[in-house]
Amino acid sequence: MADKSRSVTRRKEKKERESAEAMKEVKNEGEKSKREKDRGEKDKGEVSSEAEASNGQNGEPQVEPMDLPPFEIIAGDRIDPFVFKFQFKNVEYSSGRNKTFLCYLVDRGNTPDGLLRGYLEDEHTGPHVEEAFFTQCLPHYDPAVKYTVTWYVSSSPCSACAAKIAEVLKVRKNIKMTVFAARLFEWEESEIQDGLKMLQAAGCKLRVMKPLDFSYTWDTFVEHEDQPLNLWEDCKDNYEYYHEKLSDILQ
Ligand SMILES: [Zn+2]
Repeated sequence: MADKSRSVTRRKEKKERESAEAMKEVKNEGEKSKREKDRGEKDKGEVSSEAEASNGQNGEPQVEPMDLPPFEIIAGDRIDPFVFKFQFKNVEYSSGRNKTFLCYLVDRGNTPDGLLRGYLEDEHTGPHVEEAFFTQCLPHYDPAVKYTVTWYVSSSPCSACAAKIAEVLKVRKNIKMTVFAARLFEWEESEIQDGLKMLQAAGCKLRVMKPLDFSYTWDTFVEHEDQPLNLWEDCKDNYEYYHEKLSDILQ
């Protein structure tokens, strides 16, 4: 009896120690990702190798990752203005923006609840908003209805999402889709480029958000409290930069 309770205590202590180590590990991860954010994606390779070196310095095996709660898609009506200004800013290097925001409008023609409007938000480590849109916002698909779907996304889809959207559009011919993206996600990668081409081939119109599109998105999807959006200085230049890249990819 006494032995058993000691062993329970030992197990408990071991568990506590492990969980403390796991917490430490998570904290380190957090600091590492903050450093990555601060440095920007440009220097990511260098930072990663530095982080690896520091993890392996005492030769100890890494603690198994802690069971984190599942990442969830956040769905909402209007975006916080500060969040919008950060997440949708069309900077060239999107450091620290490890999420995608998807604002959507769905016009279902002459149906009683014809118009849908809202936004979705993801973490890149969990399911992506593009896929969530179809499961959460359009779960009941009616082949007799004509759908006009418009997205304003903080960054263009990854290759896996592009393939999934293209697949949906091939099967559901009565969905007309336009995607406006503030930034192009990893556009130098050939598989990303292939994904965008695949989307275009499936009938999806792809656009980079113009300054006017940012104002429209602000008015339509942000808790702006009647404040206008003051566009950042290089908004137009950045739009032209991304617009040119997208034209090159899709030509
Ligand atoms: Zn994706």
